[in-house]
Amino acid sequence: MNNVIVRDLVLVGGGHTHVIVLRRFGMNPLPGLRITVVARDIDTPYSGMLPGFVAGHYSFDDVHIDLGPLCRFAGARLIHDSAVGLDLERRRVHCANRPDVPFDVLSINTGSAPAMAGTPGAAENATPVKPIGGFVARWEQLVAAVRSSASVQRVAVVGAGAGGIELVLAMHHALSRDSGHPTPEFTVFSGADVILPAHPESVRRRFDKLLEKRGIVVERNARVVDVQADAVITADAERHETDHVLWVTNAGAPPWLAETGLAVDERGFLTVHDSLESTSHPGIFAAGDVAHVLNHPREKAGVFAVRQGPPLEANLRRAARGEGLRPFRPQTKFLSLISTGNRSAVGSRGGSFSVAGRWVWYWKDRIDRKFMRRFSELPEMTHDERPPRGGLVDASTLDAIAMTCAGCGAKVGSTVLTRVLATLSIHRRDDVLVGLESPDDAAVLDVPDGHVVVQTVDALRSLVDDPYDFARITTEHALGDIYAMGAAPQAALAIITVPFGIESKTEALLEQIMSGITEVLGEARATLVGGHTSEGAELMIGLSLTGHARRDELLRKSGMQPGQTLILTKPLGVGTLFAADMRARAKGRWIDAAITSMLRSQRAAPGVLAEHGVTACTDVTGFGLAGHLLEMLRASGDVAAQIDLDTLPVLDGALSTISAGLHSSLYPDNLSARPALGIEIPENDPRIPLLFDPQTAGGLLASVPESEASACIAELRAGGLVDATVIGCVVARAPGEPRLQLRDGGTTSAS
Ligand SMILES: Cc1cc2nc3c(=O)[nH]c(=O)nc-3n(C[C@H](O)[C@H](O)[C@H](O)COP(=O)(O)OP(=O)(O)OC[C@H]3O[C@@H](n4cnc5c(N)ncnc54)[C@H](O)[C@@H]3O)c2cc1C
Repeated sequence: MNNVIVRDLVLVGGGHTHVIVLRRFGMNPLPGLRITVVARDIDTPYSGMLPGFVAGHYSFDDVHIDLGPLCRFAGARLIHDSAVGLDLERRRVHCANRPDVPFDVLSINTGSAPAMAGTPGAAENATPVKPIGGFVARWEQLVAAVRSSASVQRVAVVGAGAGGIELVLAMHHALSRDSGHPTPEFTVFSGADVILPAHPESVRRRFDKLLEKRGIVVERNARVVDVQADAVITADAERHETDHVLWVTNAGAPPWLAETGLAVDERGFLTVHDSLESTSHPGIFAAGDVAHVLNHPREKAGVFAVRQGPPLEANLRRAARGEGLRPFRPQTKFLSLISTGNRSAVGSRGGSFSVAGRWVWYWKDRIDRKFMRRFSELPEMTHDERPPRGGLVDASTLDAIAMTCAGCGAKVGSTVLTRVLATLSIHRRDDVLVGLESPDDAAVLDVPDGHVVVQTVDALRSLVDDPYDFARITTEHALGDIYAMGAAPQAALAIITVPFGIESKTEALLEQIMSGITEVLGEARATLVGGHTSEGAELMIGLSLTGHARRDELLRKSGMQPGQTLILTKPLGVGTLFAADMRARAKGRWIDAAITSMLRSQRAAPGVLAEHGVTACTDVTGFGLAGHLLEMLRASGDVAAQIDLDTLPVLDGALSTISAGLHSSLYPDNLSARPALGIEIPENDPRIPLLFDPQTAGGLLASVPESEASACIAELRAGGLVDATVIGCVVARAPGEPRLQLRDGGTTSAS
């Protein structure tokens, strides 16, 4: 009972403040407190380096903080989704694409976005600099347009604060270096009669001169009031023709916050006390751009968000413990370093004095890189090394849990289960005669005439921290067996073990798990008919599934025929990526893409494969592609497989993690298939170890006539299996020949 959860801290948004909070909780965890991060973006852009990215001085990874390893370091669950609302009474965060996330203590650090709502046409025709993902995509389009167009592109930048000025200079630098193409015409629109209104006169003068020198036009007293497809209209009714409009105006508040019931200021930002706690709701905090500190209003800038990290972390800790909060006073002056696009910068710190030059840029670069290293080079800490500090789990909590366990054979209480089941929407089927709607001692299922029953069972230990995703992945994983048999799923029994805990936490956990299971079953037109839920040392989900197939349409592993094509429906690499993730060595976006792939439903596959004459099929899971292929080859007689290493679909990052020697614990066992296949593992080709990488919710491996392959792939992709690929073929095998031949760039080697 070491990991009993007593309180939930939910961090919404992975902004500049929360990344510091996470790092600090990683250095000094609070036992009994579970941290969950709900983040729209896995990569948090560091605003100070963003213009340098656009100018071409930094890579994407240089300027982004990866929430994946950071959350792993902090022991926090990472949920990749947007918060869209709050239920303040039940203390839950509503998310765009998943069930609510309950909290005891909440902190919001979702930033701001340029205010566009009041300007007609802006939302349709202009690109805001935030969210940054949208801006980066638009920037790439702009670069492509400049490169492909013979005419000079006209770019309007609306907003002449530090963000707008830095950005236009960075874009100008990036595109004027682009030899062979005309440099675009840039125009900056300032609503005031100056640029950089919040900066000292000497800084303004430097930038005025610089913009003029670079041929960047500044329109002053030119508030943009309308944005059309090919022009912006200013308040004086002037029409300025343009090809691209970038929006970098003052920060606006995210609209959903005003509807939460939390106190907001007249612009819609959350009002907070000096402690960063909401002025209206205890236990709810806000920081960074999204917050308005009533006693210390400041401009919206990353430097303030960063400085709020340590006091916010300390107060979140106090709130979790039920202790009094402490006030924090933000800095009044701060060092402002604005880059000029060409590895030069202007620096000031309030007052009238400013400095400029390449050395200022290198100074800024050093400060920025040092900040980023705090997140990319996280200290190695094992749980044992972490300093134990007074946690939230007291003796009475443990006693209460122990009493419950002893009293009922570790079975989760029926009232908890009943309440959870009442929240679910369970798919109904006419062939379920007795199911959860009228529960009995056992479920009763009808079998349609001419069909046979197909049964399978699978159980997984928690692979991802988010119980909802874990439940969905486990369900897809179990369904893979049914699809591989060419069958349609009918019903499932769930066997769930949840960690020992207090009732409210167990109930919330079960809700997430059960909604994940029933959602995926529903999409597969199958239903949950019963199960067993108990408490134990760790989270485990098992599913026993029943499906139906016509006897003559059943698919088996046997039946591969020489001349056929081998199709794999999902990419490889799950095992190595999650092994890397456990050690905080996988990028968050790799894990995110792997989860998306695991969650990709294969329900269309049996029908498509049958239509295209499939004769053998299996699903690729724990034994890896090589192990499952070997089972098919053995069952199919005198055949061998030729695999094209070049065409193997691979998850992003998997070749790097394999090359780094990061393997799942099942990998060494899977290598035992090598002699039977006749494969050696070379030093320098990570694609071959990948063949032995265990998969969770992996793809189907199917053998179809060659003439059907391309149509079959097209239909599988249209059915959602976007990575379905031909990976090789089946050939006749003479006695003594290896069962697997690997082809690389058209050459075949009998390994
Ligand atoms: C071009 C440019 C350059 C800048 N340069 C500087 C600079 O040099 N120095 C400086 O101090 N300031 C700078 N700023 C301002 C700075 O970007 C912001 O003040 C800063 O980003 C605010 O940080 P934050 O932590 O509040 O929010 P953000 O950094 O915006 O982070 C918020 C995070 O919350 C997530 N999120 C948003 N909505 C949701 C939701 N509904 N649910 C879940 N997650 C959500 C987003 O994914 C985002 O990663 C610049 C701004 C721009 C536009």
